Amino acid sequence: MHMQRLGKNLGSYLGETIDIRAVLRDVEAAAQMSGWTSETIYETSNFKIPALRREGLGASRKIYISTGIHGDEPAGPLAALKLLQENDWPTNLDLWLCPCLNPVGFQLNSRANAKGFDLNRSYLNPVVEETLAHIAWLEQQPDFDLCMTLHEDWESHGFYLYEQNPDARPSLAEKMIRAVERVCPIDLSELIEGRPAQNGIVRPSIDPRSRPDWPEAFYLITHKTRQSYTLEAPSDFPIQTRVNALVTAVNTAINF
Ligand SMILES: [Zn+2]
Repeated sequence: MHMQRLGKNLGSYLGETIDIRAVLRDVEAAAQMSGWTSETIYETSNFKIPALRREGLGASRKIYISTGIHGDEPAGPLAALKLLQENDWPTNLDLWLCPCLNPVGFQLNSRANAKGFDLNRSYLNPVVEETLAHIAWLEQQPDFDLCMTLHEDWESHGFYLYEQNPDARPSLAEKMIRAVERVCPIDLSELIEGRPAQNGIVRPSIDPRSRPDWPEAFYLITHKTRQSYTLEAPSDFPIQTRVNALVTAVNTAINF
């Protein structure tokens, strides 16, 4: 799909923001209506971080989806809400969904939390309260067959994704790209965030242990799963395009 960048994000994300309280109210309402249970990972007087869970019928695959760890990436929580409202999940899945891991970041339209920590760089030696709580919650969950973390990138020229697939399982990356390209441009750069990319797919060769600033995806691939995708919507495009890109990628992955 061809579409011009909006060109309004200069130096940081300057696009639409969301009322995260309202979005999370809608998330809880949609979840309740379609058989999800909800618990709180972390709570202060100001906000709480929810985790949603739905058991499948004769479930065979365990799938974890999270988003909203960066407060300047609104398409993620909106995609979580849309997925819940559409309620079109295959029935044979056990699902875990963290619809917003950094609510205070959204209140501030900030990538970081209230104290300035990038939560998505905090997972190796966690000291940040939200991250400690999230890891403690993850430790109580079983291993997952598939993990997806939903993000946005204000610098990118289209949708792209990172794949971590150390056992060379059947890849979902090309399938997701082929589906997303019908609703959103793909970033075809040969270098994305300093890493070699091909047709919107980055397959990082780095050993997580060699990096000091772990994103959530590194924690997941070393502790909880053997197949993980980080999905990046391009936030210099209209919000509906980005939400559709993330929703389409998730729907593609969970239907294989
Ligand atoms: Zn992000």
